[in-house]
Amino acid sequence: MGERYLQEKHVLVVGGGIGGITAALELASCGVRVTMLEGGPSIGGRMIQLDKTFPTLDCSSCTLTPKMVEVALHPRIELMTLAKPMGIERNGKGFSVSIQKRPRFVDMKKCTACGACSGACVMKGRLSDEFNLRLSKRAAIYIPFPQAVPQKYLVDGDGCLFVSRGKCKKACVEACETRAINFDEKEEIIESYYDAIVLAPGFDLYDATEKREYGYGSLEGVMTGIEFERICSVTGPTGGEMVINGKTPKRFYFIQCVGSRDRQTGARFCSRVCCMYTAKHATIVRDRVKDAEIYVSYIDVRAYGKNYEEFYKSTQEGGTYYIRGIPGDITQGEKGLLVRVEDMLSGELREIEADLVVLATGVRPRKDTAELCNLLKVDRDEYGFIRTDSIAPSRTSTKGVFVCGMASGPKDVPDTVASGGEAASRCLEYIGEQ
Ligand SMILES: Cc1cc2nc3c(=O)[nH]c(=O)nc-3n(C[C@H](O)[C@H](O)[C@H](O)COP(=O)(O)OP(=O)(O)OC[C@H]3O[C@@H](n4cnc5c(N)ncnc54)[C@H](O)[C@@H]3O)c2cc1C
Ligand code: SF4
Ligand code: SF4
Repeated sequence: MGERYLQEKHVLVVGGGIGGITAALELASCGVRVTMLEGGPSIGGRMIQLDKTFPTLDCSSCTLTPKMVEVALHPRIELMTLAKPMGIERNGKGFSVSIQKRPRFVDMKKCTACGACSGACVMKGRLSDEFNLRLSKRAAIYIPFPQAVPQKYLVDGDGCLFVSRGKCKKACVEACETRAINFDEKEEIIESYYDAIVLAPGFDLYDATEKREYGYGSLEGVMTGIEFERICSVTGPTGGEMVINGKTPKRFYFIQCVGSRDRQTGARFCSRVCCMYTAKHATIVRDRVKDAEIYVSYIDVRAYGKNYEEFYKSTQEGGTYYIRGIPGDITQGEKGLLVRVEDMLSGELREIEADLVVLATGVRPRKDTAELCNLLKVDRDEYGFIRTDSIAPSRTSTKGVFVCGMASGPKDVPDTVASGGEAASRCLEYIGEQ
């Protein structure tokens, strides 16, 4: 397969998390033209929200940011943010795709990311910041996080008083020296042909409010694992200080398998990352909070990857108390939260006081994956993840459509990266045969 031949080929990668990024970079390094669609304002996916990654405790954004920048600068990769496929039709061996691109209201060529607009915006500090899981506030014109790629601001149409109600003196426009803000920008529909498609739309997390017995959303001091990641992160709402509602908790209770391996929620599968991310959270607490009391409730610990068992053991040996048994409920006690749990090893019914309870919520297929699969006539499994071939785990039921990352089922970062590489090589094989 000659390089010139591959240069004529064009692949669409849907999703700019670590899975899509890996596949796009692999394909582009082989000479293929790639268009990456990211539905959000920046690439990075969930991994860019993480503080550190198990089991090495490497800084997540330090690992991922260079790859995100490589995508943006690669001469064979075209990156489209705020964009998703709307219509897809088979066209010969390839696909005709219509892409919906939402307006950013900021001219990317002119924006220098100086931040003056955000400082002047009348909505400054009034809108919930999605990147920090609503634990902090932002303006209507903003950059999603400091290392965002592209490094460009955008206007949140729903939050902006001018876009949503036509009522604002547009202080942002006054503040912008480069005249980058353009409220006349409209949604665009772009039609293009692609020789193959790689799907990497990632995952959702279980909605913890469904477990009423844990009081998420009603009890102060109950949060999810992904929220805890933002609390730990230096780019998070507390600048990495372990401060929640103005106080540093001392007694931490982590609950694994929330919404995983659970018939009640219809998800009998293991989410594969929560045992390990909980061990990571406990280790971070041990490092940062002097004299912390740390408990972890578990069904059994699944530490299947390289150095995972050692990491879990060192967490336990470092003074984290593992209790086999999942709590029945959490209530507000006089001196903090009360976690009621049956210790399955001793048979004892225990009531443990905690300042903070962290729910390790399980993985779910994204709600809009169904729509994407319908467009492509791609089969899904009993839970809604994209169904794959057992011999070629990136191959879907539609020829020329490949999948990587969490979209086909729970995976940690190393497995997501491996699946991105596999999707790229199967895709090369397919376009090479055309
Ligand atoms: C709390 C928590 C902690 C974790 N800690 C670790 C850890 O320490 N180590 C580790 O190895 N793993 C960890 N993980 C797992 C890790 O986050 C995943 O393995 C990884 O994010 C999967 O990447 P992905 O690219 O498949 O999906 P995602 O990260 O979800 O990225 C998918 C991207 O696709 C975009 N997208 C979705 N649909 C569309 C569409 N229709 N059009 C365009 N774009 C779309 C999304 O906006 C998103 O940017 C953790 C997970 C959680 C929840
Ligand atoms: S839109 Fe203008 S003011 Fe805002 S960050 Fe970009 S250049 Fe600066
Ligand atoms: S128009 Fe008003 S609300 Fe909208 S971004 Fe500008 S200052 Fe903020």
